[in-house]
Parts: sequence; structure tokens; C-alpha cells
Amino acid sequence: MARVLVVEDDQFVRSALIRHLSDASHSVRSVGTALEALREVAQIGFDVVILDLGLPDLDGAEALKMLRGITDVPVIIATARDDETEIVRLLNDGADDYLTKPFSVEHLSARMAAVLRRSRAAGGEPHARVLRVGGLLVDPLRRQAELDGVPLDLTRREFDLLAFLAGRPGVVVPRRELLAEVWQQSYGDDQTIDVHLSWLRRKLGETAAAPRYLHTLRGVGVKLEPPR
Ligand code: CA
Repeated sequence: MARVLVVEDDQFVRSALIRHLSDASHSVRSVGTALEALREVAQIGFDVVILDLGLPDLDGAEALKMLRGITDVPVIIATARDDETEIVRLLNDGADDYLTKPFSVEHLSARMAAVLRRSRAAGGEPHARVLRVGGLLVDPLRRQAELDGVPLDLTRREFDLLAFLAGRPGVVVPRRELLAEVWQQSYGDDQTIDVHLSWLRRKLGETAAAPRYLHTLRGVGVKLEPPR
């Protein structure tokens, strides 16, 4: 059972989705605009959001960006456009998966199950231990991190990235591996990683020019180590 928010303006598609998801014993809420979706996720905790890209009020990419500004909830994009460039961009912008319309109920269920499995695994590994690197403390189980005793306010991706690197202190992790392990993607551009790294850096109070914990080795990878 999952709490699902369906964001879809097409009444026909929407009722079909609600019916199928309810039949699969999920708890479903639905809205027809991006702004309503933002209001919903701000008020209610969902396990997954199914986001139609063609909404009447906001462009899908814009809607995704705004959603990501307030929540880390897994988002599955539902798109009629079979446009690979757009899909790659949205995956890089924080979408967890996508479906091209028309899609079958089975396909949706499978994608939802995979996304939920990933987010639950990331959120609650039973034997995850607290990682310490210098003054940095990362608790994978509680998904909390602090630096010199001060809690860090990280997004889901930033936390995953930090936790992955903190689990391998001093080791240069290739970008390809980061994409695969943190983003669960076998493709993507370096910009995705760079953008998240720069956000993470800012939260750690350092810069690429004057790194303390996070070191980028151009063309090779990234490593996290205690400051000297
Ligand atoms: Ca639509």
C-alpha cells in the first residue's frame, strides 16, 4: 500500500488511474493542476507522485522543479511526448522514473514498485551505521547529517550523495559510479553531478576553489575526506 498523488488534468486518464490504483489497494488523491499538486504535497505526506507533463497551468519541467523545491517524494513522470532529450533532462532534474503514454496498469505498477523499493531502501537500511569523516557525521538510518555538531538541511539527493561518499572516505569515486549508485542511472551528463556537488558544497560551507571535505578530480571523480 502506498499513498499516491495523481497529477493529471485529463479527466478520463485520471479516473482510470484512480480506479486502477485503488484496486491495487493504494490510497489515492488526485489533482488537475500543478499548483494544486504543490499545495497537496506541502500538506500531506505521499510515497509517490505521478506527474503528467501536460498540465494547464505550469510546464511539466517547471512543476517538477517547484515540487523538488519543497519535497523529496519520488516522482514518476507521465508523458505523451516520446522525447528522449526531455526525459533525460527531467530525470536529471529530479524525476525518479517516467512512463510514456499510453501505458498499461502493469507497467505503472512495476515502475511504482521499483521506485518505492528504492526510496524505502534508501530511507531505512536496517543495519546502516553512522559514518564519521572528520567533523562530519552521517546517519543513514535516520537520514540525518551534521557538520561540527550543526545539523545539515539536505535534500534527498544531497543526502544520498554525501552518504555514499562518506561510506568511502578518501576514495576517488568515478562519476559513472555516482550516477549508477546515487542516481540509479546508467546515463546522464556530468552537469547533474556538478550541480548537486555545488549545492552540497555550499551547505558544507566550502567552495570548489577552497575545498575542505569534497574534492573534485577533474575527469576522474569525486572524493570526500577529512580536512587536513
Ligand atoms: Ca495532460
